[in-house]
Amino acid sequence: MAALIMKGPEVSAGMKDSLITEAAKLKPVLAIIRVGARPDDLSYERGIIKRFDSLGIKVKVHELPENISQQEFNSEFAKINSDSTNNGVLLFRPLPESLSDNFAVNTIDPKKDIDCMSPVNLAGVFAGDKESFAPCTPLAVMEMLKFYGIDLAGKNIAIVGRSLILGRPLAMLMLAENATVTICHTKTRNLQEVCKRADIIIAAAGKAKMITPVYVNENSIIVDVGINLDENNKLCGDVDFERVSPVVKAISPVPGGVGAVTTSILAKNLIKAAKR
Ligand code: NDP
Repeated sequence: MAALIMKGPEVSAGMKDSLITEAAKLKPVLAIIRVGARPDDLSYERGIIKRFDSLGIKVKVHELPENISQQEFNSEFAKINSDSTNNGVLLFRPLPESLSDNFAVNTIDPKKDIDCMSPVNLAGVFAGDKESFAPCTPLAVMEMLKFYGIDLAGKNIAIVGRSLILGRPLAMLMLAENATVTICHTKTRNLQEVCKRADIIIAAAGKAKMITPVYVNENSIIVDVGINLDENNKLCGDVDFERVSPVVKAISPVPGGVGAVTTSILAKNLIKAAKR
């Protein structure tokens, strides 16, 4: 049987009506802080503005010069963070090399920290506190699995990647749904076997097409979080989609997968912040 293709735009579309209703009630405001004009930041920013516009949510972009001093950056950040008209604050990272994000990470109001930059929210995610803000990409993975009716309780899950923005918090969200989670990394032995045995594989390593048919079985459910360029400079995930999709039960593509859900999750978190 052909694999179920789990499409990000379908998941986002499913979230749209309730986000519009809530946004009309709460009128939340998102403040974006961008230093300089990196192409990937600009592209993410355009994506957010387009999605939020379609939901009726206001976005304020604070563009700071790339050569801003640390002191000026901290003071601008403090001003935006304490502005009571902002319900959520999103700082694009990494910052230019000349700047540290220490001040921002440690002073952001946890109630406005809708992409989980603060250690306060991260600790909440690890403690299983559902009131905390979890990072948007792991939440997007959870939303996708929920949308396609994939229950996690009792399932064996292999997450490939242990970063603090992806693998680790995602493992905690899945644990909170009663999954049994194995977090894999570059030193994991027999990675192929670990993945092959899992009911669900989450690929979050940042290695183009590393998950090939030998990592999967016919019942594998695969969520591909990777964003890479292949040998022809084309966007691709961590999974060799062409070869893997015919031999598994369900899979998300790249592009058109998890990445397409992230901005909707950002809106969902902003609405949660506004409710407080
Ligand atoms: P990091 O580089 O911070 O982490 C990568 C992780 O993968 C590390 O834990 C690393 O192990 C592990 N890893 C790398 N290669 C292998 C391998 N061959 N076998 C096993 N484990 C491996 O990356 P991020 O977590 O920031 O991002 C991961 C991917 O997700 C990237 O492609 C990124 O672009 C994408 N991404 C997608 C988003 C979306 O919205 N869809 C949002 C954010 C990121 P070790 O710790 O041992 O080094």
